[in-house]
Order: sequence, then C-alpha cells, then structure tokens
Amino acid sequence: MASAGGGPRGSVRPERHVQTGRGGNGGSSSTRTKSAPPKRPSSSSAKSSVDSDNAADAIRVRVAVRLRPKNNEDFIEDGDFTSCVELQPEAKKLRLKKNNWSSELYKFDEVFTEGASQRRIYEAVAKPVVESVLEGYNGTVMAYGQTGTGKTYTMGRLGKDDPSERGIMVRALEDILASISSLTDYVAISYLQLYLESLQDLLAPDKVNIPIVEDPKSGDVSLPGAAVVELRDIDHFNELLQFGEANRYAANTKLNTESSRSHAILVVHVQRSVKVKDENEGASVVSSMDDLLAASNHVPIVLKSKLLIVDLAGSERIDKSGSVEGPMLEEAKFINLSLTSLGKCINALAENSPYIPTRDSKLTRLLRDSFGGTARTSLIITIGPSARYYSETSSTILFGQRAMKIVNTVKLKEEVDYESLYKKLECQVDSLTSELERIQKIRQDEKAKIERKLRKQEESLAETKMTFTTKCENLEKENDCMTMEIKKLMEELNDERDQNKILSGRIVEMEMSLSQNKQQQLENSTYKKALSDSTQMYEDRIKALLEQVEKEQARCAYLELEMHGARQVVASNENSSKMQENSKVNELQKELRKLKEESRNEIQHLEAKNSELLSEKDLIYEELKSMQEKVMQEAKHRRSLEDEILKLKKVLSENSAVQLERGTSMLRTTSGVGGGAIYLPRTGKSRDTIPNQKDTISKIFEEVGLSNILALLKSEDLDVQIHAVKVVANLAAEDINQERIVEEGGLDALLSLLETSENTTIHRVTAGALANLAMNGSNQGLIMNKGGARLLANVANKNDDPQTLRMVAGAIANLCGNEKLHVKLKEDGGIKALVGMVRSGHADVIAQIARGIANFAKCESRAISQGHRKGRSLLMDDGALKWMVTSPTTFSASTRRHIELAFCHLSQNEENTRDIITSGGIKELVRISQESTRDDIRILAKKALNSNPAFLREIQ
Ligand code: ADP
Ligand code: MG
Repeated sequence: MASAGGGPRGSVRPERHVQTGRGGNGGSSSTRTKSAPPKRPSSSSAKSSVDSDNAADAIRVRVAVRLRPKNNEDFIEDGDFTSCVELQPEAKKLRLKKNNWSSELYKFDEVFTEGASQRRIYEAVAKPVVESVLEGYNGTVMAYGQTGTGKTYTMGRLGKDDPSERGIMVRALEDILASISSLTDYVAISYLQLYLESLQDLLAPDKVNIPIVEDPKSGDVSLPGAAVVELRDIDHFNELLQFGEANRYAANTKLNTESSRSHAILVVHVQRSVKVKDENEGASVVSSMDDLLAASNHVPIVLKSKLLIVDLAGSERIDKSGSVEGPMLEEAKFINLSLTSLGKCINALAENSPYIPTRDSKLTRLLRDSFGGTARTSLIITIGPSARYYSETSSTILFGQRAMKIVNTVKLKEEVDYESLYKKLECQVDSLTSELERIQKIRQDEKAKIERKLRKQEESLAETKMTFTTKCENLEKENDCMTMEIKKLMEELNDERDQNKILSGRIVEMEMSLSQNKQQQLENSTYKKALSDSTQMYEDRIKALLEQVEKEQARCAYLELEMHGARQVVASNENSSKMQENSKVNELQKELRKLKEESRNEIQHLEAKNSELLSEKDLIYEELKSMQEKVMQEAKHRRSLEDEILKLKKVLSENSAVQLERGTSMLRTTSGVGGGAIYLPRTGKSRDTIPNQKDTISKIFEEVGLSNILALLKSEDLDVQIHAVKVVANLAAEDINQERIVEEGGLDALLSLLETSENTTIHRVTAGALANLAMNGSNQGLIMNKGGARLLANVANKNDDPQTLRMVAGAIANLCGNEKLHVKLKEDGGIKALVGMVRSGHADVIAQIARGIANFAKCESRAISQGHRKGRSLLMDDGALKWMVTSPTTFSASTRRHIELAFCHLSQNEENTRDIITSGGIKELVRISQESTRDDIRILAKKALNSNPAFLREIQ
C-alpha cells in the first residue's frame, strides 16, 4: 500500500518502470512510457456508471459483492428471520435492511446473487486482473468477509469433484499458463499463510517467519525466504495448491488455530519476454524461440509482474466467536492487527488522508502495491444472508464501499533481459565473427585472385605495349617503305608517262615507217625481180653466147675439114692450074687466116665478156644475198613493229574505254547549260594524265601535222580511222584546235565519217568530236549548215549504245544553246532525236537531254523577251513538253533542275499557255514553285503562275 507521499494517487500518467536484473536490484535501468494502458475489465459490468475514474491511467479498485446461499445453520437459526440483504444485481445495488423500517442502499461494481456461478465470478472479478498481469502489471484479487461467507470457496476451491466449482486461484493459473510460452516465459508461485503476524511458507512448511523485504527505491515488496516454485502445468499447480492446503491444515492443527483466522496469500510470479525494437515501437510478446531469433535486432525485454490472490481471515469481530481470553485474546489482537490495519489503510486511502499506516502490519506491507499502489486490484466481499450477522455484513459492505474509493496508478515493470541479451549478443558476435572470418577469407582469396589477374593484365599490357611499339615501328618502317614505294611509283609513273609519250610518238613514227616500209618492201621486191630478171637475162645471154661459141667452134672445125678437102683438091689440081690455083689458095689462105683471126678475136671478146658477165653475176649474187638478208631483217623488224603496234593499239583501246567512262563523269561535271568538252583524251589511270595525253596528242599534232591526221580519217584501215578520229576528237576538246580542225577540213571529214561509217566506235567518237566542236559558237553554224544535226539525228535514231547516245545528245545539247539555229535544228529532226533518246533511260543520256532542253528553252525565252522571236515554243511538239511534265522525280538533282528550268522558261511564254494547261503542266508548275531546290527556279515558277491569268484560273 502506498505511503502518504509514496505515489501520485489519481495522477493522470501511467508509468512504466524498466528494472534491471531478475531481482530488480542495481544495474542500469530505463523508464519507458507505455503506449497502451492496461485493458479494462472486459465484462459490461466493469463499465458501470459507478466508475468515477474515466482517466485511462488511474485504475480504481474494483469491488464486487457475493452473497452466499443459505446454509443449514441459516435455515435452523434464522427460521423466523428474513434475509437482511436484498440484491438488485442488474442495478449492481444492494439493500441492507437493518430492520423492517430501516435500510441502506449500496452500489458496487458487481453484485452477485447466491446463485452466481464460480465461472461468472472469475470472469467479472479476476479475469481482467489476470489479463493485466499477463501484460506486465501487478495485480491483486482479494476476498474479504466474515468467516463462513465463502471467501475460500470463491478463491481456493479446487473443484476436483465438480470442475464448475473451481475457484479463482485455479482459473487464474489456468488462464496464465495457457497464455505464456513455455520456452521463453516463466510462471512460478509462492504460497504463504500469515498468522499472528508471522509468514509461513505453505510450500516449504519448515520456513516460518519469512521476512518481508521492501526495495527502498522502487518500493517493491519481496519475500526472499519464500519458496518460489516454477509451474510446469495446471496439474502441477493443483498439486501444489493441495499440498499448500494440507500444510495449512497441519500448521493450524499444530498451532491449534483455524484456517479462518489466517490469511492465505498466493503469489504468482509471471515473467514474459518481449522484443522492443526501438523507442517508438511498443513491446510485443515473444511466443517462441523463433520469434526471439527473428527479433535479433531487438533489445530483449522481460515483463515482470506479480499476481496476489489473497484469501483473508474472517473479518468478524473476535468476541463474536466467543473466545476472547488468554492466548486467544493475543491471537485476536494480532488477527485484528492485520485486518484493523488494513481497514485503517483503506479508510485513509479512501479519504485521501496524507498518512497511510502501511507499515503497521505485515498484511498491509504485503498489500502495499495493491491498494494505492501500482497494481490492478479487484476485491470481492462475501456476505451471508443471515440477519443475525447484520453488523458483520454491514461492516463488510462498508469496507467494500471504502475500498471502491481507492485509485491505483498502474505501472508496467519491464527489465532488460541482460542474460538473454548477453546470450543473444554472444551468439550474434560469434556468428558475426565467423561471418567476418569467412568474408576476410573470401576477401583475401579475391584479393589474391585480383592481384594475380592484375599481374596478368600488367604482363599482357606490357606485352601489348611491346607488340604495339613493334607494330608502330613496323608500321613506321612500312610507312617509310610505302613512301619510298610511292615515290618510286611516282617516278615510275612519270617514266611511264614519258615512255607513253615516247611510245605514242613512236606509234606515229612506226605507223609512218610502216607505211614507208611497205613501200620500200614493194620497191625491194621489184628490185629483186629486176635483179633476178637481169640475172636470168645475163644467164640466158651467157648461155646463148656459149652456144654461139660452140657453134663457131663447130663451124671452125667444119671449115678446117673443108679446108683440108680443098687442100686435097688443090693438090690434085695443082698440076693443072698451079698458077691459078696458087693464087686462089693464097687468097683462101688469107681469108682463112682472116677468118681465124676474126674467130679468135671474137672468141677472146666473148670469153672476156663471159668472164665479165661471170664476175658481174657474182657481184649480183652477193648483192642479192645482202638484199635478202636486209629483207629478212626488215621483215623481222616489221614483225616486231607490228607487235608493238598491236600492243599500243590495245593500250589505246583500253584507254579509250576508260576514257569513255571518264568522259561520262566529265560530262557530268561539265553538263551545265553551257556544256563542255564531250570527248576528252585519257590514257592514264587518273585525271592527272589527261594533260599528258593532251601533250602527246599535241606532239602528234605537231609532228604528224593536222592535215596528215585528218588524212588518216579517210584511211581504208578501220583501226587507223578509229585512232585518227580519236586523236581528232581529243584535239577538238581544246578551244585552240577547234578552229584549225574546221579550217583544215576536219569538220567535213568527221561529217562524212558519220555519214558513211557503219562502225559504232566511229559513230561514238565522231559524235564526241562533233560535240566538242559544237562548243564553239562559230562552229555550231557550220555544223548545222553542213547537215550535222540531221546526221546526228540519224545516228541517234539508229543506235542504242548509251555512250554513243550520250555523245550525240551532248552534241545536240550544245547546238541547242544557239537560238539562231533553233528552227533548223528542229527542221533537221534534232529536237525529235534528242527527246527520242529518252528511250535509252540511261542517266547520262537523260542528263544531256535535260541540258539540251534547258539550253533550248532558256535561249528561246531570252529571244522572246528580247523580241527576236514570237509564237509558240519550238519545243511544244516532238514530245518534249510531255516529257518535261511527266518526267520522273527520281532523276538526279541536276537533271531535275534542268528539266524544271526548261519548263519554267516555257511557262513564261504566254503562247505556250494552252499546251501547258492541256499537258497537265499547272500541277508541275505549282510543285516546282513550292518544292524546287533552287530559289531562282521557284521564283521563275511563281512568276509564271502569277503573271498568267489562265494559270491563275486553273489553280482556282
Ligand atoms: P470462509 O472461507 O469465508 O470461512 P468457506 O468458504 O469456508 O467460508 O465457506 C463455508 C461453507 O460454506 C463451506 O462449506 C462452503 O462450501 C460453503 N459455501 C460458501 N459459499 C458458498 C456458495 N456460494 N455456494 C455453496 N456453498 C458455499
Ligand atoms: Mg476460509
């Protein structure tokens, strides 16, 4: 019981003490404010209007009254008495009747009639206190009343035979044991008897005079000498209770006392583990070890509470029991001491007296916390119905009424469970240590691994660096080599260029020497023939002379024979006509001698001549031999020359092919409305070689002469013709040559070539040459006058080779740039042919057509604006307009621009309005005015649209 200044009675704040250690002594402690107050009694009666303590934290001592049923004694003794009490349980009121005309009405927290069951009593009186104890608050349930009114029946009944008779002690312990965790919580009891101010341990009967110890700081009361038995289960409790009762009975017998004279006190120690996360979180009860482990982050807290179940000694005055003398008086005094002291304290507390005589008796010291302290307290007062005990009943009721005025301040007592905290922390430290060890090991392994990796990386880096450096060096070397090589190649290239020049010169030279050679060869053969003829003649003549010599010799022999015959005749006739004959013989001899002489001379002459002829013949043979050798050499030389020519021709034709390709790009680059050289020389692999080629051409030009080159255009040899026309076409690309070519008849030659030749290459290159010539304004007129447009148109109509068509289109496009020639160009079919080449579909051809039409339209537009020309455009027919309007937008940008430009110029001429509208050109004109990439073209389109009312009408 709280002392006068001991507690803030009726204060508004519940306190919660955290004690340290099991005994609550020493150590650090902390105080927390409990978030929720202890539960109020759950039964509706607990909320009766008697409650004056609506404050949640201040709990009034609750008092219930129980009327014992009449017993036999009552029936016998009170036969003619009526009951002195009248219960109004629904109103929780009790009327105490002094006599028939005087009665008092009292209100209680509960009023139980004689029929009230033990269960209802427990639930209304004790259960709220038990629940509060389970939540960590101290609690007291106490029975007060006259002996025989049923205190023990209410509190300590075991109910072995009839379970419905189980009293508050059994039921309370049943509830407590059912609510706690056997793993983490702890329930123990002490069972004591207070008799004559001596505390005896009913569970350890040897222990008598157990001292009451009060903690001066907390005011906590403890009985260090009493046995505290931890409960296993409810059966264990029943055994202990029975054991206690048996001891109580034995002690009373020994002391010759009655149980009604002693106070029985059951102390239930409840200790529950809770986890407290932090300051802001409430404590929650731990029900299992798992919960405890799960709550490893929490501070383990134990809630320690105490439930006192007190079965007081009878409250009747001793004298009434009839034994007031001797030792009984002493006993009565002591019995009274405790009860009187309790009554005084209750009075003082009820009256808010400044002094509460708590220390006067052991009972009041034991119940220090129950009345005016921190416990939740329920008091049940038991009364009998008999009027004979009116005054006892009345005093009991008054005791109850006063107790109802006492307000306790409940406090939660919780302690940090250092033992389990220590264990838990130790556990955690151990697990963390092993975890740390594991992590350290893993770290070390990882570190070693990383270091190994790092070393490897460094090695590979160094290696890479080395490789890189070597590579760099190699590359540098290679670079140097390459530079050298490039230099060398450049030199070689230059050499090749030089050689090329030389070769080209040599070609011409060789071609010329070839023709000379041919002539010489011809001469050689004639000479040879003459030589052999003369040799033959000489041989014939020698033969004839020899025959003649033989004849003469035969004649000579015949003559000698004849002379011999004659001599014989002469000898026979000597006698007869000696004289005559002598003279005749002389004459004949003379003649013979003369003849002989003549013959000899002639023979000598012939022999001389013969030897002369023979030597001449030898000479001729030698000459013939040397001539033959020379011829053979010449033939060999010729063959090598022919080979070389073939090679050169091949090179030239390859060059021509590349050149055509290049020519295309040249055309693209020079395909402005003004046009440019269509056919340009090309022998090397890059544009850089063009000047060299030009140099070669000009060298040929200088060395061979333009007239000779032009003459070659008429050569019978097609190859020669092709090469010649290529040279001319190349020359025609240069402004300075254009006039000369025309002057020296090149234009005529080219035109006739175009007309007569059936060869495609000739057509292509000639058209290119003409295109080049047509760049020159004065040449354009000449080309037109000489029927060039007609010839070009023919070629265009006959050919489908894109390169040829590109050349032709380029030539006509250049001619389109001369307004004076427009009419003739159209008449000669030039425009029709130009537009007709659209069929080719080749982008380069289309580009030239677009350029030509743009040239034409622009010049025409200018002539109209200057007043030189009038009327509908010459482009309106021949499909040009239609093509312009419907040409696909997929053409190259420059082609599109040319077409747009041409169309815009045509649109400026009002005479073309009808054609443009009917061809659907308005849409195109509007499109150009909005979408053309060129500002000037858009402006031109807008101008046409805005200035032509017919167009404006069409748009609307
Ligand atoms: P006390 O402890 O107050 O001296 P007891 O509990 O010993 O009184 O009761 C005296 C007698 O009355 C007992 O025999 C008990 O069984 C009986 N008794 C008391 N209260 C009741 C009750 N409510 N119903 C039936 N019997 C009762
Ligand atoms: Mg009793």
